Amino acid sequence: MVDSLVKGVARFHRSYFRKNRSKFVELVREGQNPDTLFITCADSRIIPHALTQSDPGDLFVMRNVGNMVPAHRPGQECSSTGAGIEYAVSVLGVSEIVVCGHSHCGACAALYQTEHPDELALTRKWLAQGSRVRDLVLAQRAHGAPSARPRFGGRVEREHMMRATEQAMVVQHLANLMTYPAVARRVADGSLALHGWYYVIERGVVEAYDPEQLAFAPVVRRSLPARPRTTALLAAS
Ligand SMILES: [Zn+2]
Repeated sequence: MVDSLVKGVARFHRSYFRKNRSKFVELVREGQNPDTLFITCADSRIIPHALTQSDPGDLFVMRNVGNMVPAHRPGQECSSTGAGIEYAVSVLGVSEIVVCGHSHCGACAALYQTEHPDELALTRKWLAQGSRVRDLVLAQRAHGAPSARPRFGGRVEREHMMRATEQAMVVQHLANLMTYPAVARRVADGSLALHGWYYVIERGVVEAYDPEQLAFAPVVRRSLPARPRTTALLAAS
């Protein structure tokens, strides 16, 4: 595997770097000035620069298991994600933050596993940040309106539940972003906008959260038929 990575580095230097050399030199001379903090999952199937067709210097990317944003708490343990948010917002001055969840997220699936090996103790602790979302999804399944529940059992029902979980996680972590004082201040003064995205891997499309409709809809309208879904779980809680 590493051989193919090394070959990739060689191809990068021969092709991409040569074509964009002046841009890289400029980014070193002027320093980085990204517009967007892009928070997404560590999942290998997500490729932020390819997905958004961004150039070097456009995205300040942070990735973790499950695209989580820990809520800000004074005196909390040091959080890599929290430090990155502070730096991007208060030092780099980004004007947009995207939290990008995705289909088939292993972190979301793991929320429903009852047993974790001892060697995954850190993973279990990290995933506990998603337990509120999981509980809300389960509560909606148990008590929600019939129209909010899938009509089929088995695999289809599980896919419906996982999509609801993956999307609700994005909404939860948008809310968590607002617990950071600098984020809240800059959203209030209109200099920072937050966006919740959901990337459907197998279709190559992105849906965006609409806080007025409490639903996700295609960010590029012609790429996917309109198919709003309820994500009122968090708003109603
Ligand atoms: Zn994931």
